[in-house]
Amino acid sequence: MKFNQRVLNLQPEGAYAVLARAQELEARGREVIHLEIGQPDFPTFEHISKSGMAAIKDGQTRYSPPAGLPSLREVIAVDAGQRRGIDIAPNQVVVGPGAKPALFFPTMALIGQGDEVIYPDPGFPTYAAMVAVAGGVPVPVPVREEKGFSFDIEEFDKLVNERTKLIILNSPANPTGSVIPIDDLEHIAAAAIKFDSWVISDEIYARLSYDDRPVPSIAALPGMGARTIIVDGFSKTYAMTGWRLGYGIMPEDLAERVTLLLTHSIGCTATFTQIAGMAALTGDQIMVAEVVAEFQQRRDRMVAGLNAIPGVVCQVPQGAFYTFPNVSSFGISSAEIARRLLDDGSVAVLPGTDFGRFGKGYLRLCYATSLTKIDLALERIAQVLSRTSAQHG
Ligand code: PLP
Repeated sequence: MKFNQRVLNLQPEGAYAVLARAQELEARGREVIHLEIGQPDFPTFEHISKSGMAAIKDGQTRYSPPAGLPSLREVIAVDAGQRRGIDIAPNQVVVGPGAKPALFFPTMALIGQGDEVIYPDPGFPTYAAMVAVAGGVPVPVPVREEKGFSFDIEEFDKLVNERTKLIILNSPANPTGSVIPIDDLEHIAAAAIKFDSWVISDEIYARLSYDDRPVPSIAALPGMGARTIIVDGFSKTYAMTGWRLGYGIMPEDLAERVTLLLTHSIGCTATFTQIAGMAALTGDQIMVAEVVAEFQQRRDRMVAGLNAIPGVVCQVPQGAFYTFPNVSSFGISSAEIARRLLDDGSVAVLPGTDFGRFGKGYLRLCYATSLTKIDLALERIAQVLSRTSAQHG
């Protein structure tokens, strides 16, 4: 069959592929510890689920406006504005089923053949995919361990130019957990203004940051509101990955175009899901703080455990719920290490190369799982890796 160029180079998302393989092993009776997929291990907070269920009972099961319920757009505008110290109008908010549409559709609206798009490598695989579908030119910028996994600003300066139509940022980042420091954001903002580039700032992990460190947003810097799309959502903060609810915040004229794309593709987001989202944002936020405290404990346990394994070096991530340990000392590919950890140790992790070629030599482990499972996983990882180093001398 002949497919259009648009889909020819698309790859599956590694997390889903490893999950499928892990489930195969489970079907054969193996007890696998899942550190591959990025979602909280606890259920959606009860008051949120109850509100969604009540909405279904109440008949809120019909179409809603394509850009989202006006009441939800208003609540998002206030919440997102307050958290970043900026003014946001409800008309700038476009709600979608998950944060992914808020990445994909603005890219489709802005990028044409030959437009260059800068994005982090290693980075969330959807960035490269959506640039490919839009016909843009992918320009990955390495994020390096020695720079705290922030954008390599020297490399960025070499790559940004007048053809750069879009710069994609992700802070805190998947897969490294790094937060882009304000100085780097100011530098990137100056380049975006100089070269008249748009910025997509994927802030889906903005509320999952540790050690009381704030996560600055590029959208709050002078002149950036008019050229920034903030991407955020409910999946990670409120454990709502399967509800499918997220949003983008962008200048109103872009929001209108993005809404048209939504209208003709998705139609609209489930109405009862949006009502559950209202409950999430207007309810008590203490639960989010409790989750963050719990994740910080899990992060610390996992980082300490990984660094105790000979040959593994792991930085302390500042946000999200991933560690990104360096396993290059074992002298074999991270894909092979990930394979051994699953096949021989029943621990599912992702190779860093699932997030781009600069992920070579790293693994991604999600620590959104219980301390008991983290401890057990660390024991198994240590065993598999000690056999690996014995083989490789
Ligand atoms: N952006 C990043 C950096 C992510 O890690 C994810 C999910 O893993 C998303 C966006 C997508 O979020 P959602 O499931 O709400 O579409």
